Amino acid sequence: TDELGIALSNLADSATGILTPTLRLGVTGLSRAGKTMFITSLIHNLLTQGRLPGFSPLAEGRFIGAKLADYPDATIPRFAYEQHMAALTGRPATWPESTRRISQLRIVLKFQSAKWWAGFSGPATLNLDIVDYPGEWLLDLPLLGKSFAEWSAEALERARQPGHADEAATFLTELDSTDVLKDASDLSAEHLASAFTTYLRRSREHGALSTLPPGRFLLPGDLEGSPALTFAPLPRPNQPIRGNSLYAMLENRYEAYKAQVIRPFFRDHFARLDRQVVLVDTLRALNTGPAAVADLETALTSVLACFRQGEANPLLRPFSRRIDRILFAATKADHVHHTSHDRLEAILNRLVGNASKRARFAGAETKSLAIAAIRATSEGTIREQGETLPTLIGTPQAGEELDGTTYDGKTEIALFPGDLPERPDSLFENGQPVALNFLRFTPPQKLETNADGEVVLPHIRFDRALDYLIGDWMA
Ligand code: GDP
Repeated sequence: TDELGIALSNLADSATGILTPTLRLGVTGLSRAGKTMFITSLIHNLLTQGRLPGFSPLAEGRFIGAKLADYPDATIPRFAYEQHMAALTGRPATWPESTRRISQLRIVLKFQSAKWWAGFSGPATLNLDIVDYPGEWLLDLPLLGKSFAEWSAEALERARQPGHADEAATFLTELDSTDVLKDASDLSAEHLASAFTTYLRRSREHGALSTLPPGRFLLPGDLEGSPALTFAPLPRPNQPIRGNSLYAMLENRYEAYKAQVIRPFFRDHFARLDRQVVLVDTLRALNTGPAAVADLETALTSVLACFRQGEANPLLRPFSRRIDRILFAATKADHVHHTSHDRLEAILNRLVGNASKRARFAGAETKSLAIAAIRATSEGTIREQGETLPTLIGTPQAGEELDGTTYDGKTEIALFPGDLPERPDSLFENGQPVALNFLRFTPPQKLETNADGEVVLPHIRFDRALDYLIGDWMA
């Protein structure tokens, strides 16, 4: 009977292996938007059946359980869930290390199908494959339609704008002293590429997000130092270009970058997603000012261009698109009082407005939510000059400054965060940034535990995000 049992369970395993539906969920966003934290919280909440009243399978008592499983493709790095949880629950608790490259993880979900109550089917299984990748990589899509000469002309024009003089000076000097028609040499290519990368990094530090392809120059993933990333924009010479010149070498590398880096990413990863969440650090942009918000809007439009399908976007036509839902999430909503959460959603909605209309037109449904994957603050009130003001209570990270005070990372404070404007179109009425008191906090240092002794992660509207992204696949 043992043998029979084993044979039967093998049969069942191989049968479920074929029949188990798989939902591929992409998680993206620009650097520091909150991808790592989002996925860590997602997995922990599913594994421990966290506090998720708005997640229908759990609210309806149909969620049986979840476990991590091996990812079918062993060549892709695994999302370092255990390390990230260890950082969050360490003493002191620290933020996990941010996304630098693509990674994936499979979580197997068991649930009672809602139809089961009507006698249709029994317990069901869903493989949820989570794909974490830098949003910067999406900004590369337009390069597929540009030649080296076209891309170079645009990139050099931007570098020469007066506003970028500081950041671009070293690169432009390097370029001026280079004869692009001389014999190709790896050393010259490396010098130029490194000066160009430094310029892109500096632009990023100064808040520019939108105009920075190639994305791998900022987040090289595993390609750091490889020839496919060792190129830079060059002015097109008027004289004939010899095949062994520096210009020809960099042009070939640019083409290799397109063929061997951009195209495979879109074909092998992006084009296979069913659902997508785009995380946006809206509050940081608001706090920085109108230019940062305008830039974020441009970046979001380019990101969203990737979700337009078929006819609308000839560059994507070779990839079969099938994303049917996109969630835009304004992350770190625990930086404002709950009375501002709806306003934050309205602002994000406005920012993605036009772009998401296009995505909807192409067949994908979209939604905006203000969330915190983990709450680093709690709420309270203070009385000031006879007025009761809502406050946030949290521990600012070491080195954070506000009103002349520098924090040590250990002191809890109550802070009046400021309000977001009631109407999203009145964001910058007099060109001033929204007056937020915006500090980075440490993660919560004490976490509650559930009946099984597992930590419970406090969050904001995370259950709604989950419900939108996977709820209907567990119906
Ligand atoms: P990634 O680059 O997109 O992977 O971004 P991370 O997930 O690493 O987040 C970047 C930083 O944002 C973290 O180190 C935290 O400081 C902060 N952060 C992310 N999520 C939250 C959140 O839910 N609440 C708060 N308060 N901060 C967060």
